[in-house]
Amino acid sequence: MALTHVQEYRDAALAKQWIAAIRELNIGSMRIMEVCGTHTMSIFRNGIPAVLPKAIELISGPGCPVCVTAQKDMDGFVSLARQKEVILTTFGDLMRVPGSGSTLQQEKASGWDVRIVYSVFDALSIASDNPQREVIFCAVGFETTIPTIAAAILMAEAQGLNNFSIHCAHKLTPPALNALLERPDVNVDAFLLPGHVSVITGMEGYREVFGRHPLPSVIAGFEPVDILRAIHMVLRQKEAATPLLENGYERAVSETGNPKARAIMWKVFDGTDAVWRGIGLIPHSGLVLKERYHRFDALKKLGIHLEDTPEPPGCACGEILMGLKRPDGCPLYGNRCTPMHPVGPCMVSSEGTCAAYYKYAVSNQ
Ligand code: SF4
Repeated sequence: MALTHVQEYRDAALAKQWIAAIRELNIGSMRIMEVCGTHTMSIFRNGIPAVLPKAIELISGPGCPVCVTAQKDMDGFVSLARQKEVILTTFGDLMRVPGSGSTLQQEKASGWDVRIVYSVFDALSIASDNPQREVIFCAVGFETTIPTIAAAILMAEAQGLNNFSIHCAHKLTPPALNALLERPDVNVDAFLLPGHVSVITGMEGYREVFGRHPLPSVIAGFEPVDILRAIHMVLRQKEAATPLLENGYERAVSETGNPKARAIMWKVFDGTDAVWRGIGLIPHSGLVLKERYHRFDALKKLGIHLEDTPEPPGCACGEILMGLKRPDGCPLYGNRCTPMHPVGPCMVSSEGTCAAYYKYAVSNQ
């Protein structure tokens, strides 16, 4: 069943072949974590849990960049929005994520200048058009996004743009996998590894994690056939009792990924420990601007110090991001917390597990 063209990955007949192949393997129970919010959405949208044997459980991991952004950083974005002569620019997903007392959407409604952009380069253009004002970009995202943000910093430097800065809440994926697997309460048998992130990291980005924790691990694409095929690949590994790191997204991911993109990223940023929402501090899982680029650090530039702030009482986002709970295990799910009135980011983000579950799960389970 070699796959070559995008349409094939949505082909119902081909999907049925993979479902049949999965059902032929009788390997007992298995908990497979997808480590990407786009996978989560695709899995729910395509009703994949309903066609798998009951013993195969798909659980969501910390793969939604908005969902893993610490409350402290959300509060930081709100603080920055409230500064005089600031234009705060952000991707749309962050607008409705609750901070401790407000959201960016509420700040915008209150009159502060918060603008949705589709690319960090839009923020650079706004900075160029508004030289008297500080234009700040809310930098969230994983390896997929980070090189572009780094390129924007280099471009701002080259253009002499002195009124552009970022608040960096970027996260790195492999250290989070290590941290998850080192927790005694986390119960994961296999990983579907994130396709987009892997375009940048390559297979080699996971070798250290796999060496420490050799679980069946397959990099997966995002179409239903991609996901079914990747599930079949991890099941085959379990059947053979031979955990492997395999590439199921060959049309986009190579062994070495995109070294140029990583070089740009490491030119601008240094690694640091970072707090993940609900999970806590994970060593070497975040980024800070290198000293040479401190003038692009919004908090430093405006002299703002952030305090740790507690997460919303009762919100189980952290447990959901570690596969310890399903959304309907959160006492607030569907009553106090809905997409219209979200309590935590997992219900807001277009890649959030609670949002996906709310939108699709009832009809798919
Ligand atoms: Fe948090 Fe709402 Fe999800 Fe509960 S349902 S974990 S409160 S986002």
